[in-house]
Amino acid sequence: MTERRDHFIGGQYVPPTSGEYFVSTNPANQEALYEAARGTAEDVDRAVRSAQQAFDNPLWRDLSQTKRGHLLRRLGDLIGENAEELARMETLDNGKLLREMRGQMATLPEYYRYYAGLADKVEGRVIPTSDRRVLNYTMREPLGVVGAITPWNSPLTLTTSKLAPALCVGNTMVIKPSEYTSATVLRLAELVMEAGFPEGVVNAVTGFGPEAGQALVDHPGLAKISFTGSTATGSRIASTTAGRFIGSTLELGGKSPNIVFDDADVANAAMGVVAGIFAAAGQTCIAGSRVFAQRGVYDELLERVSNRAQSIVVGDPLAEDTELGPLAFGDQRDKVAGYVDLGRSEGARVLTGGEATDGGLGGFFYQPTVLVDVTNDMRVVREEIFGPVAAVMPFDTEDEVVALANDTDYGLAAGVWTTGLARAHRMADRLDAGTIWVNTYRAMSPMSPRQGFKSSGVGVEHGQETLNEYTRLKSVWINTSEDPVADPFVMRS
Ligand code: NDP
Repeated sequence: MTERRDHFIGGQYVPPTSGEYFVSTNPANQEALYEAARGTAEDVDRAVRSAQQAFDNPLWRDLSQTKRGHLLRRLGDLIGENAEELARMETLDNGKLLREMRGQMATLPEYYRYYAGLADKVEGRVIPTSDRRVLNYTMREPLGVVGAITPWNSPLTLTTSKLAPALCVGNTMVIKPSEYTSATVLRLAELVMEAGFPEGVVNAVTGFGPEAGQALVDHPGLAKISFTGSTATGSRIASTTAGRFIGSTLELGGKSPNIVFDDADVANAAMGVVAGIFAAAGQTCIAGSRVFAQRGVYDELLERVSNRAQSIVVGDPLAEDTELGPLAFGDQRDKVAGYVDLGRSEGARVLTGGEATDGGLGGFFYQPTVLVDVTNDMRVVREEIFGPVAAVMPFDTEDEVVALANDTDYGLAAGVWTTGLARAHRMADRLDAGTIWVNTYRAMSPMSPRQGFKSSGVGVEHGQETLNEYTRLKSVWINTSEDPVADPFVMRS
């Protein structure tokens, strides 16, 4: 029998009230990994109440900002000390390369250290109103219990983008991880306790989106929801939170353009295109899934990208030489296969790849795929596939590619490959996306804010700016005068 994992509520493991569990499997070989608790509205309610008690607990509420920073720093250190275990857990759960997950875990402590450093720098302002007898100042306060709903593609990294700033400013949290990746968030909750946070500050309820996730979204005790996932689910969450007048930070899908100009270093650009779409088997919101190549470099770029795509080593994500692992679960692999078939029926030509495989392991793999003869109006070019599928299109002029690149429902990121300094800045200005990379792709840092435009989301993650997402602003007016307060109905001349 596989090992059982319970919810983590109030500083300890708590079995689900329903007594039900579900099996999490390894997508590389379909072997059962563990059973996770199937959360219900009752479990969510228990977790939210625990988080509210922690929010009201003087041990947390009255902790100095500096000491909150110490706790965050300690949590970052613990993640670093346990990085190998966490990386393996995520690779088993979602099939991403162990090498990549090791890299993510090595970076995660930096997020906690960054927000630890900011914890005692969250300040208000003194406002010089026109009345000198009045002192007006602002304060930033924590919101309360924040609900975090996270996806399966980078479970701890995406949880950290929410947790570190939320704790930095004194909130408490209930996390609902994806049903496909429960393991590391539960382990993180243990490390939170080990770091010395009071019990109930961080809680995790596992289970299914429409059940545990929906119950969390609907819970009246939440002060905010922070969500990463599909645009469809994000839109539903936004409707609910708007109706309750609470905030939401939504990091949603993308269909990002990666644009290569004639004046680019084509070898570098080809590597950037390959990294943009085949890293993580394309299962990232920032995947550079629409590749635009200027006519003069189109053939060479295509040749370089398809050659590298064909040589990508597909297989066991735990193996050191593997370059592309499986998709995270069977339905996701079928979704990717369905989109490539749709592309074929729309008139696209598969230059490379285009087939599902079991990777020799009985898993949910899909070949690195390059589609050509595509146009910007085809569904494979408009909709997020979330798999290793690049659609490559030629263009002639800068104006033309700006129009094509911006002709999308999404606005998460964009890549530009050029040696022209003026063109780089022009493109950064003209592209309608929250992150622009020039001669690089997928660069990210806890220090650098990012925001999705259009259907890619609402609100900012990372950087100092995200702290505003987890605080509310209070304006305080103090009358410093000893003068009697004037009768409001006696008109002053
Ligand atoms: P979802 O948006 O459905 O899932 C993301 C998270 O939301 C998961 O924790 C999920 O739980 C939860 N969830 C699902 N339904 C609800 C609900 N009604 N109320 C509250 N929470 C809910 O994405 P999928 O995992 O289904 O992936 C579908 C597509 O979304 C992908 O193919 C990709 O295109 C996109 N996506 C984008 C991501 C990004 O980083 N921007 C990340 C993941 C997906 P559970 O997993 O248990 O269903």
